[in-house]
Amino acid sequence: MSISAAVEVKGWCPGVLRPMQSGDGLIARVRPWCGAFGLTQAEGLAAAAERFGNGHIDLTRRANLQIRGLDHTGLSGLQGVLERLGLVDRDPQAEAARNIMIAPLAGIDPAELFDVRPVARALENRLAVDATLHGLPSKFGFLVDGGGTVSIAGERADISLRAVGSAMALGLDTGNGTEWLGSTSRDVAAEAALAAASAFIGISGGRGRLRNLGAEGLALLRDVVRRMLDPVVSELPIVSRKSLGVLDLGAKRIAVGVAAPFGRLEADQLRRFVEMAGDAGVTDIRLSPWRVLYVEARDVAAAHRLAEAAHGISLVVDPDDPILRIEACPGAPSCRSSSVDTRRDAHRFAALAFEGTLHVSGCAKGCARSAPADLVLVGVQGGRQGRYDVIRNGTTRDAAERTIDAAEAGTLLDV
Ligand code: SF4
Repeated sequence: MSISAAVEVKGWCPGVLRPMQSGDGLIARVRPWCGAFGLTQAEGLAAAAERFGNGHIDLTRRANLQIRGLDHTGLSGLQGVLERLGLVDRDPQAEAARNIMIAPLAGIDPAELFDVRPVARALENRLAVDATLHGLPSKFGFLVDGGGTVSIAGERADISLRAVGSAMALGLDTGNGTEWLGSTSRDVAAEAALAAASAFIGISGGRGRLRNLGAEGLALLRDVVRRMLDPVVSELPIVSRKSLGVLDLGAKRIAVGVAAPFGRLEADQLRRFVEMAGDAGVTDIRLSPWRVLYVEARDVAAAHRLAEAAHGISLVVDPDDPILRIEACPGAPSCRSSSVDTRRDAHRFAALAFEGTLHVSGCAKGCARSAPADLVLVGVQGGRQGRYDVIRNGTTRDAAERTIDAAEAGTLLDV
């Protein structure tokens, strides 16, 4: 396929083989295998982002990484590098289907019930090669969680697999949250999840999301899935632990979590983090849906040195850092839908007295956050460009109480 033919001007989930056009060029989303990049891969990604893109790298809420600012020549160069790093799927359909989130400390956390990486690998290997599953909608996703210190069980995915005792519970995303239908052995959990996905394609024609199935469609799907499961599921508390900084996991295992402000890394930051991580004995970098990177360090001293060094390159390791209360999408000039420089403004707002959650969005689409925030500032389009609509205790889709400019927003937040 020619590169230009592969470029999608519009789309929900850009890939390396099917990038998406944005205000600062093409965006290529890179999906790690089993939720982690090896250090060589991460170093290659940083170098490629600098050489072929504009150096901006976004961590996504589906635990992927996006390289921005590519032109057609740059895209071709990037694809070549990623091919050598083992990060390119065989076709755009396989790439789009391989949409899996896994608990970021899987396999290294003594507190998890068991290592769920074999389940995630079985899922992604089948999604990558089984063309019958390539009829899944592009945003359809899976979640695999083993519990433990950093759990992603509270995140939303169309099909969830969660360790329970020595088995795995299977849940479907519905309009009322995850509905846990039963459990199965870890050896066949991936097979059961894929059978559920296949049944979803049959029922929905591969359109929409599982949560949008009507009552009849959901009942049909439940019937199919329940036949594969033991109906007993013990109580599953909803948890989502977004730990940051140095994490003593017990049994002499030490991890470090670092956040990038608003999920934006610069290529040089990533390269330096990879170098420092190598010095701390790190072998891979794990991604999370809350856009924190996790690594396992050699020992406590190495972990503290790494956390300090990460802070030194403007990464966040303090869970109380006010910037973590703010979500901001790329905004202008990166995104054509925005007339406001959301991240520039958000950096400024982080220094102000406001203590609640703040969502600064370039437009009403609200890419950075779907949950309500205490205060939402939405860039205005049309004739009042450069101003923000103000919404309290809501989302970008709620009614605005008034419209203000960025300077006024600062006054609003500094109380
Ligand atoms: S919320 Fe709007 S402005 Fe922000 S990244 Fe999404 S589409 Fe662009």
